[in-house]
Parts: sequence; structure tokens; C-alpha cells
Amino acid sequence: PSSGPGSPARTKELDLQYVFHSWLAQDGRDPFVATGAQGSWVLDGEGRAHLDFSGQLVFTQLGFNHPRVVAAITEQAATLGTIAPQHAVESRSEAARLIVERAPGDAFRQVFFTNGGADAIENAVRMARLHTGRRKVLSRYRSYHGNTTTAINLTGDARRWPNDYGAEGVVHFFGPYPYRSAFHATSEEEECARALEHLEQTIALEGPSTIAALVLESIPGTAGIMVPPAGYLRGVRELCDRHGIVWIADEVMSGFGRSGRWFACELADEAPTGTPGEWKPVGGAVTAPDLITFAKGVNSGYVPLGGVLISEDIANSFKTRAFPGGLTYSGHPLGCAAAVANIGVLTDERLIENADRLGREVIGPELVKLAADSGIVGEVRGLGCFWALELVRDKDSREPLTPGGFGTSPAMGVLAAACKRLGLLPFINGSRTHVVPALNITDDEARYGIGLLAEALAEVEASL
Ligand code: PLP
Repeated sequence: PSSGPGSPARTKELDLQYVFHSWLAQDGRDPFVATGAQGSWVLDGEGRAHLDFSGQLVFTQLGFNHPRVVAAITEQAATLGTIAPQHAVESRSEAARLIVERAPGDAFRQVFFTNGGADAIENAVRMARLHTGRRKVLSRYRSYHGNTTTAINLTGDARRWPNDYGAEGVVHFFGPYPYRSAFHATSEEEECARALEHLEQTIALEGPSTIAALVLESIPGTAGIMVPPAGYLRGVRELCDRHGIVWIADEVMSGFGRSGRWFACELADEAPTGTPGEWKPVGGAVTAPDLITFAKGVNSGYVPLGGVLISEDIANSFKTRAFPGGLTYSGHPLGCAAAVANIGVLTDERLIENADRLGREVIGPELVKLAADSGIVGEVRGLGCFWALELVRDKDSREPLTPGGFGTSPAMGVLAAACKRLGLLPFINGSRTHVVPALNITDDEARYGIGLLAEALAEVEASL
């Protein structure tokens, strides 16, 4: 029956009546009812399959229902489905080892597990403050770090505004964003140099001896996938070293292969070749952050899990004094079993390399073509399975399709409706749409989805 108990219509009715949803007014919602999924496809309430270009919230590295991860969770649930965090358990020990072994350089030692990204940020900041004995934390405008008090105050987008009661010691700076340069730069090199100069001055004027940490998404994700220009992350490392500031790389969205690398901060030692999506190593010593926060792709979001990767220096700070923090579900066995299997699949199926290849050979070139044929795609940027399209009214003026680039607009509403009708799940934020599929999406599926996106964007252009 189409409307009885357990039916999609009943699910939607109950959702509208009883579920309080994030980030939006409760009236006027029209939720997509998901009834099943497989690989990169999600079934709606009418039994129709939609191609997932969103990775949901950019976390399904393996798509849906990967049998190895499902089996690992099932087996863990049947043997030791839960345990308090103070006990040692195989899935947690193994997950920590696998994560430490994949961190850049050889400085990382341990993992503090959390339930997701925001609490990873909270705890990383707390570690940095205790380690340095300082309070202030720098973060960039155009960033998202999560929805707990410290994380939302560090956030550099409109989601902070209604939540901002002036968290102690948070200072925002501008990062590189060549398409809408805060520095009037006309090249990537100029943008990089000026962004670093601005950061240097911010540190100088805030007082280096008061700054505990600098929190930076290695590639800002929801804020627009602004891949940092070559040299920027090395410059950040140098400034942090010079002033004893802890560099916290937020890899909640960019980590675990999303960028075609285990962690996007590896780009610190690479430079773009000029081919969209292609970067090559530049040599020199490995540049690594002091703390890395992760969540999402660590286990494809099959069970909530996040954490902080801790380098030796900071781990040493807590050898003989307690870290004053903990969570009931820290390193939950189900989340960790999913992480072990997920990392195993990413490794064995060479999906990090596949994400990089998809970016260079399929998604990048197809999106560049789409942008050339469209009157409203102002810029395409990204790498791996991590791409953004800037949507504008006019390619010369670069006026965004939503005022200020935040919120929504009738034009972005046309895009969302067209995608839904065509059977594509997009990731839309402000005046951008992101192409952030699973790392194991097939080449044909990726091309098919970009074809649907082109159709949807043509409808938007016609509506203006
Ligand atoms: N940091 C980044 C870069 C994110 O993209 C997100 C979520 O989108 C978070 C932190 C917060 O993670 P969570 O929603 O798991 O708390």
C-alpha cells in the first residue's frame, strides 16, 4: 500500500510531524524519502534510483552498502557490539594503527577517537591550548568546522552568525580564493604570497605569544573547494613553526582519499601541472600539520566516528598529565570495525589512486567542457572526487546566483528541482554546486551524472 504503515508516504508524514531537522525552518520542508541504496544509487519513495553526486554530506567514500564494511559491522555487532572507551578492543586498536600509518610524514603517533567532526575540532583545540599554554585560535573566513560551540565559532561562514556569542579568542583571517580574491590578486602566485603576508600580519598584530593554534581545512570543503595555491600550506607551516603555533589541519571532509590523497595536506609538497585536477610532487622534506581532525570518509559514515591524529610532540605533552576530556562512545567498536574495513577497501581496491584518476581523466575534463558550454558556470575547480562549480549571472561580473553567495535564491531552487526530477542528488551550497561522488563511482556513472547536471544547469540559465 502506498500510504499505510511502513510506506514511504507514512515515513514522510512521520518525519514532517516528529523529526526536528538541522539548519532550516521546520515548515515547508519536502524531504527526499530514501528507501534503499546500492553503490552510487539511492532509491526514492517511488522506487526510482537517483545517482548520488553528493556523497550525502561528502562522506560515502565507498558508496552505499559495500559488502566488506557491512560484514565487518555485522560481525562486530555479533561478537562485541559495544564497550566503554577505557577498555582495549581489537577494532579500535587496529583502526588507530591504520590511521596513524596513513598520516603524512613520520611524526604522527596516536589517535583520539570522537563521534564526528565537530568534537574532533573541540578536542584538537583543547589539546593545542593545553600544549602551548595559550588561548587564541585562528581560522579562515569561508570555512566550516562543525556545530559545537568552539567549532561553530571557528567556522567562517553564515552558519556562525546566529550562533556567535563571541567565543573566547577566535580570530578569523582571509585564505586564498583566487576567483574572489580578498587581495586583488591577478594570479595564483600573487594570491598565495598576499594571503601569507596577510596571515603573517594577523599573527603579528594578534600577538604570536597568545595564539595556541591555527585551524585550517586543507581544502575548504563546504565553503567552496578552494584548493590552496602551491606553496600556501608550506607557508602556513613556516609561520606556525616560527611562532610556536599548533597547525590543526581539518581533514573531516578532505581526508581519506577525497582529494586523491589520503590527506589533502599532502598537497603542501605538490604543485599543479596546469592540467585540471593534476598535481605533482615538488620534492623537499615532508610538510605535515601537528594535529589532523578527521571523520566522514574514515568509515564512509556507515557508523558515526571521528578523531584527532596526534603528532609526537603533542602526544608527549600528555604522557605524564591527564588529557581532561573524553566521550562515552570514543572509539565505538562498530565505528572502528567499519573504519578498519573501509580503510582496507580504500587500500586494496586502490581507490585513493582511482579518485585522483577520476579527477584528472573524467570529472575534471567533463566539467571543464560543461563550463565552456554554459553561460552560468564561472569557474570549475578541484581535484580527485572533490569539485566545485561557481554559478554566476554573468561570467565577467562574477555576480553569484545567490546574493553574497550565501543562502538560496529562485535560481538555485530551479537547480535543486531539476536535479530531483532528472534523478541526480546534488550537493548545493549557496551559489555553488559540488561534484563529490563516491571514490568508486564508475567512469560511465560520473559522465552520466555530469550530463544530468548540464541539463539541470541549462534549465537554470533559461530561467534567468
Ligand atoms: N569540519 C569539516 C571540514 C566539515 O566539513 C564538517 C562537516 O561537514 C565538520 C568539521 C563537522 O563534522 P560533524 O558534522 O561530523 O560534526
